[in-house]
Formats: sequence, C-alpha cells, structure tokens
Amino acid sequence: MSEPERSIAHLDAKHFDVLVIGGGIVGAGIARDASQRGLSVALVDQYDLAFGTSSRSSRLLHGGIRYLGQGRLGLVREASREKKRVADLVPHLVEPMPFLFPTFRDGRWPRWQLAVGVKLYDLLCGGTNFGPSCTLSQQEMRTRLPSLTSPELTGGVRYYDAQTHDARLVIDNLRAAARDGTTVSNYAQFTGATRDGNGWRSTVLDTVTNTEFEIRSAVIVNSAGPWSDRIPGSGTKLRPTKGVHLVVQRERLPVPDAVVMMRGKRILFAIPWGERTYLGTTDTDYDGPLETPDCTDKDVAYVLDVVNRYFCDAGLAGDDVLSAWSGLRPLVAKRGGNPSDISRKHEIRMKEVNWWDTTGGKLTTYRLMAEQAVDKLMRHAGLSGATCRSGSTELCEGLPTDRISSVYPPPVTQAAVQHYCRHEWVRHVDDIMTRRTSWRHYVDDPDATAGTVAGWMADEFGWDEGKKEQEIQEYKAAGLTGR
Ligand SMILES: Cc1cc2nc3c(=O)[nH]c(=O)nc-3n(C[C@H](O)[C@H](O)[C@H](O)COP(=O)(O)OP(=O)(O)OC[C@H]3O[C@@H](n4cnc5c(N)ncnc54)[C@H](O)[C@@H]3O)c2cc1C
Repeated sequence: MSEPERSIAHLDAKHFDVLVIGGGIVGAGIARDASQRGLSVALVDQYDLAFGTSSRSSRLLHGGIRYLGQGRLGLVREASREKKRVADLVPHLVEPMPFLFPTFRDGRWPRWQLAVGVKLYDLLCGGTNFGPSCTLSQQEMRTRLPSLTSPELTGGVRYYDAQTHDARLVIDNLRAAARDGTTVSNYAQFTGATRDGNGWRSTVLDTVTNTEFEIRSAVIVNSAGPWSDRIPGSGTKLRPTKGVHLVVQRERLPVPDAVVMMRGKRILFAIPWGERTYLGTTDTDYDGPLETPDCTDKDVAYVLDVVNRYFCDAGLAGDDVLSAWSGLRPLVAKRGGNPSDISRKHEIRMKEVNWWDTTGGKLTTYRLMAEQAVDKLMRHAGLSGATCRSGSTELCEGLPTDRISSVYPPPVTQAAVQHYCRHEWVRHVDDIMTRRTSWRHYVDDPDATAGTVAGWMADEFGWDEGKKEQEIQEYKAAGLTGR
C-alpha cells in the first residue's frame, strides 16, 4: 500500500472528474463508488476524516423500526435491504445484534402491534434478516432482562438489526477509494469555487501549512453533512438536530441484547459494546458551533432518567458516565414540527450545472445514496465510466483489516498505530484515539493510552518532546467538548 500524502501541494492545478467536499460516510461512499467506476476523484475534508456526524452516531445498521409506526414502509425496506448488503460486503464491520423491545400496560405500542410490526420488519428485509423476530411473554422478557422490574411489564418482542463502527466504515471506504485512485486529503478545507466552462476551479486551504491551492474538476459534490449549507455555493438549507450517547461500564447495565426504551414518541437504546454499554440518544434542535456539539448536564439527566425508569435497580448517575459523544443530524430543513418527525430520507440535488448537494440520509444507506449520486452526476456531466459495482464487490478486498478495523476497538499495539500513521491519513493523537479506533471511549485509562500512542507517533513522525506533549494536551482538550 502506498503512503498517503501529507500535504495537498501535489493537487495544485490538477484536473479531476469529481471533487468531493467532505470525508464523512456520504463523501467517502461517493468517492469509493466513483473511483471504482474509473472516474478520477479528489476528496477533501477540513478536519480529520469522519470528524463530523459519521463518528458520532448510534453505530447501527438498521431498517428503522420506528418508521414502521409512521407507515414509511418504503424507507424501511430500502434501509433493511442495505443493512444486509453492507453486512455481506463489509463483514468485518458488521455484528448482527438482537434487540429486546419490552412492552407495558398502557404503553404506546401494545405487544400484539409490535409482534405484527417485527414480522413485517423481517419481510421488508427480503425475508433474510439476521435472525427471525419473535414475541416474548412477560416471563420470557423477565428471564432475559431480570433487572426490568416494573409490574406493568406485559412482555415484548425480539428482532434483529446490526452494530457497526461508523468512523471505520468511513475510513475503509476511503482506503478502498484510494486503492482505486482517489486522492484523499484531510485537514484541507474547501473555500470556494468559480466556473471553468462547464466545470469548476476550486480553492482548497491546507490548514496545516496555511497554504491555498487550486483544484480543477468537471463536477463538485457537496457532502459536507451538517456544514453543507455553509459551503460557499451550496443550495441546501438544514435543520440540524443533536443526539448524545453516554458510555458506561457493561457491568453497570449488563444487557445481553440491545434494549429499546420509549419516552413519549422517542425511542432510545441501551447498546452492548464489549466491556461497555452505550446509551442514547436525544433529538433536540441545535444552533451552536458545528464542530463541538456539547453534551450538557440536561442531556445526561434525560438519558439516565429514561434508563433508570426501565432498569429501576441500576441507579445510574452522572459518575457512571465514562465518556460521551454528541453528533448532529444533517436533516433537510422543514418549517416547525418535532425534530423526530423530520424526514430521514436523503436528497441529491443539482443546484447548478455540475454542482451536486447531497443531504440527509443515514449511515445504513450510504452505499445506495452514493450509487444514486454517481449515476446522476455521470449522466449530467457526460462522464463515461463503468456501471456501479459497489453493491457486489467486497469493500476491503486486498486491504488489511485484522487487528486494525472492527466493530470493537482493536488491541492497543504499536503495529496498529504504525499502520494508521502510514496508511490512514493520520496526523494527530486524537485521529487515532477517537476515529481510527474509539480507544477514547473504550479503554480503561484513555489518557494513559493517549500518552503511549503519542510516543509511538513520535517515533513515526519524528516529533520532539514538545510536539508530543502538545498533541496529548490537544487530545485531552478535544474530549472536554464531549465529556
Ligand atoms: C446522534 C446520531 C445518531 C445516528 N445514528 C445512526 C445510526 O445508528 N445508523 C444510521 O444509519 N445513521 C445514523 N445517524 C445518521 C448518520 O450518522 C448521518 O446521516 C451520517 O453520518 C452523515 O454523514 P455525512 O457524510 O453527511 O456528514 P459528516 O459525517 O458530518 O461529514 C461531513 C464532513 O464534511 C466536512 N466538511 C465540512 N465543511 C467542509 C469544507 N468547507 N471543506 C472540506 N470539508 C468540509 C466535515 O469536516 C465532515 O467531516 C445518526 C446521526 C446522529 C446525529
């Protein structure tokens, strides 16, 4: 594998078929699909790859059980089929996961209704879900979840979705794209574009050297997620909503399967993750800084309150929260209404000739969204290339994944850090601790691990003691905005 470039100077004045703005899952999926078809592609991200929402999700590949209740069967079918397809093509990043959905007397969804719903859920998956759903009696639910002590419990259902590692899905799509020729640059901010015939001349700022370069391309794709309506030239309007997740010791909430909890119309999850359980999420309108959506005491209290009502003996408190992440849903703006009711359907729009805005959508459906976007941009720009193959070829064929990329964080080793430094565009300690591995949210002493990682990175990059210490401090400061 060739080493990624550490500067974007080599891009200056080069011409590409497609320039992708944003290295989240949407941009990564598009770059991968386009390069697999033979197009020349450059992708830039202003921060690290997967810095935005795509490292701050619930990490589920799901059909969206709650959309069933809203009658959005088409959306559920589309996502259900894609979740299975991603499992086939990216097996190292997909763990099938059973979900327990308890029901209560006078609850919003009675057991019989959910029982019908989960059977429909299996069918919408093409009849090939990760496992068959079933209905559980009160006793069966208590056997699986003894800590669910409410006398109102009537039983529930058990159904399947899957767990992934969101940021790894992004990085592995970009590794595949780079293998097929895409030029990937992080810490490279798109600052504007002017017309160049039917194509574009874009300016990109290398934020490490503070130098501006020009990139020419036939097409621009704006995949900047929550930032996409702030991109100069964008035609989108967003209404971002915030969702937080809290990480606790697995033994403080030892759920055998994921558990679905309801508060009003909202659904929250307790999701087992190796030695940890994570809890979430909230869904509230947000108008603060996009880089650092916070996890407030109110957010923590809300999530813990829902969990403690279900698991009365758990008594989870703020001290139990080991870490947290907070992400923004890049939802397409519609006036008024409840954030949970805004459509999750993705949109791919040409604002003007050969400028495409991609918005909305989910981690689960990224591949389909990319296929649709590349089909459209090729047709309108008259670019010739192969038909889409992302739905039938393994993502990481020929790329190493063992002890590097998985749903659970890999063991902390120098070999893994060397790999990230040499082959995955890493520049900072936080890039490894948070997005390449999730060690920040998983290991017992993240600060000590960050020190070890900084030492190994110093060996790779030739950092002196001062730079190493600065990196550790920046890693810690980045965590303050999470928790
Ligand atoms: C709390 C929460 C939970 C979720 N859970 C799930 C789930 O379980 N399953 C699921 O399927 N979906 C889930 N989603 C939805 C999913 O995570 C998002 O739809 C998806 O990650 C959005 O990806 P994106 O590429 O559009 O945006 P992002 O990941 O935010 O990527 C956009 C990128 O653009 C870059 N950028 C911005 N401006 C510029 C610029 N000027 N120049 C260069 N780069 C720029 C940013 O740095 C960023 O890295 C969840 C979302 C949230 C918020």
